[in-house]
Amino acid sequence: MAKVSFIGLGIMGSGMVANLVKAGHDVTVWNRSDSKYAAIEKVGAKTVSDPTQLLAGADFLMYCLADDVAVDALFLKGPELASKVEKSTIVIDLSTIDPVTSAAERKVYESRGIAFLDAPVFGTKGEARDGGLWIVIGGPEDVYKKSLPVLEPISETLHYMGVGGNGTKMKLVGNLLVASQIVSIGEALTLAKKAGLDLTKVLEVAAVADFKTPIYAGVGAGVIKDDYEVNFPLKLMLKDARLIQAFASRLNSPVSIAVTTEELAKEGVDAGMGELNASAIVKVISNRAGVNLSE
Ligand code: NAP
Repeated sequence: MAKVSFIGLGIMGSGMVANLVKAGHDVTVWNRSDSKYAAIEKVGAKTVSDPTQLLAGADFLMYCLADDVAVDALFLKGPELASKVEKSTIVIDLSTIDPVTSAAERKVYESRGIAFLDAPVFGTKGEARDGGLWIVIGGPEDVYKKSLPVLEPISETLHYMGVGGNGTKMKLVGNLLVASQIVSIGEALTLAKKAGLDLTKVLEVAAVADFKTPIYAGVGAGVIKDDYEVNFPLKLMLKDARLIQAFASRLNSPVSIAVTTEELAKEGVDAGMGELNASAIVKVISNRAGVNLSE
C-alpha cells in the first residue's frame, strides 16, 4: 500500500481521502483550515499542521483545491511546495483549473524530474463519497499506470486522455456540457411554469424522452422542492464558466453557453447564493421571470 499525502478537505477531497484510507493506503492530509480534521481523523487519515510536513517519503502527493488561486498560492507562489517535493513522489492534481496553471505546475515538476498528472474529476459530493468519480487524466502513460492504485479507489471510470494538460482541457469541455444542461433545464422549467404546465409532469417527460439526462433529473427534482443543498457550489460554477471562456478564447472557439452561465452565476453569487448548489442558476432564471418553481 502507498504512502499518500493529500491536500484539500473540501466537498470532494474529503470523500476521496476516505476512500483512499478504505483502500488500505497510509494517508496524511493537510487543509488550510483545521475544522475538518476531527472528521477525517475518524475515518483513519493522519493530519499535519503544515503542508511541508507532508512531503517526506510520500509515494503520491494528491490535491483537490478550489481554484487556480489556491494552486498558485500553495505550489507556484507562496510556500512553493512544488520545489520541495521529493523526486520519487508522483504528484496528481485533481482540481479544476486553467490549463495555463496546469502547464505551469507541470513545468515546475518536470524540470525537477518529478512525475505529474493533471486528473480533474467529474461527479459531485455523492460520487466522491462513494468512490464513483469519473476521472480524466493527462500526463505520461507510464505514470498514469503507476498511479492506478490511488486513482481506482476514488473512481468508477478512468479516461487516460494523453499528454499532460489533456485532463484539464477535457474537464473544461465536460463542464461546458454540465453548464449547458443546468441553464437549459432552468429555462425550460421556467417557461413551462409560465405556460401553466405541471412541473412534476414536465420532469416525468424529461426523464424518458430522447433528451433525458441525469442532470435534468437531479437538478429538476431539487429545484421544484426549492432544495439547493450544496454538492457543487455556485461560486465554483462561476469560476468554471470563466475558465471555459478563457480556454476557448485562446483557441478562438465560440462558447456562448459559458458566457450565459457566467452572467447567471455572477448574478446569483452577487445575490448571496455562492455557497448554494450550482442549480441556483435555475433560481436566478426563474427569479428573472418572476415565477417560483417550488409552488
Ligand atoms: P470546496 O468544498 O470549496 O473545497 C475547496 C478546498 O480548497 C478546501 O480544502 C479549501 O480549504 C481549499 N482552498 C481554497 N482556497 C485555498 C487557498 N487559497 N489555499 C489553500 N487551500 C485553499 O471545493 P470542492 O467542491 O471540494 O472542489 C474542489 C475542486 O474540485 C474544485 O476545483 C472544483 O471545481 C472541483 N470539482 C468540484 C465538484 C463538486 O461537485 N463539488 C465536482 C467536480 C470537480 P478550506 O477548507 O480551508 O476552505
